[in-house]
Amino acid sequence: MELKIQNVTKKYKDLVAVNAFDGTLTPGIYGLLGPNGAGKTTLLRVVCALTRPTEGKVLYGNMEIEKLGAEYRKVLGFMPQNFGYYPHFKTERYLEYIASIKGLNPHYAKNKISSLLELVGLTEKRKSKVGHLSGGMRQRLGIAQALLNDPDVLILDEPTAGLDPEERVKFRNLISTISQEKITILSTHIITDVAYIASDILLMKEGHLTFRGSVDALIGMVQGKVWSTTVESCEIGGITKNYIVSNVQNTADQTELRIISGDKPTNDAVQVEPTLEDAYLFYTGEIGTAGGPENEI
Ligand code: ADP
Repeated sequence: MELKIQNVTKKYKDLVAVNAFDGTLTPGIYGLLGPNGAGKTTLLRVVCALTRPTEGKVLYGNMEIEKLGAEYRKVLGFMPQNFGYYPHFKTERYLEYIASIKGLNPHYAKNKISSLLELVGLTEKRKSKVGHLSGGMRQRLGIAQALLNDPDVLILDEPTAGLDPEERVKFRNLISTISQEKITILSTHIITDVAYIASDILLMKEGHLTFRGSVDALIGMVQGKVWSTTVESCEIGGITKNYIVSNVQNTADQTELRIISGDKPTNDAVQVEPTLEDAYLFYTGEIGTAGGPENEI
């Protein structure tokens, strides 16, 4: 089972949302990462055949997805960002409704819905109105609807948006459980959402795929490039203008900066062990914007 994204470019007038994206995906969990506006949703919409690429194509089993049409939709599960739910529907009824839209056999759907409600921990809420569910429960319902047809290709667009840290962990575990033998692509701008579960990280910036590889490989890319240095307050401006600064920590009269740079940024800078956040910033950050705990990455 292979999904081949071949040289996909998507333009909206002059804006290139996705730029020559190329990659073959086999079963596994892919963490599609990048800042807002990087092109993640656009790429996922192309992969779901919801929008046509301006150039390039997507193949599933060596056939163009556009030509496969309904055959492709049978193997595809999609959870869009802000997936449209019906607040007045009861949870179970909502899934029955989606199952009928997907053309699933009612007997199969009934059994599948029970097992999915169990899987996503919503059995007790099956008679609750969708509008009364918490954010985390609604996201889990979104997963359940995407899994109704037992898809081989599962696309989740920002599924953890709006979840609190505890819900994020639960969600991550759920995705790990359900993604066996599937090609799962999960987009997020929060790196910790996928760091533990993704077999491959796909990093996008300004439409380009800037990195593909394991989490360890990503961290390895900034080995020897992360520095810690203590500076006077008056020096901060000059440094942040010229370097990617991943953290700023103030002590009583000095400031400690964490800097990502190929060259030693100050005379007394010392090399420190890189983290995933450093690596993410190296690929997506802009010189002139300081990161830090307040930057959700
Ligand atoms: P991400 O999901 O990484 O936040 P998007 O794919 O949503 O990025 O957006 C990539 C770029 O394409 C952004 O500049 C966005 O404004 C633009 N864009 C997305 N959809 C449309 C559209 N339908 N029409 C015009 N521009 C769009």
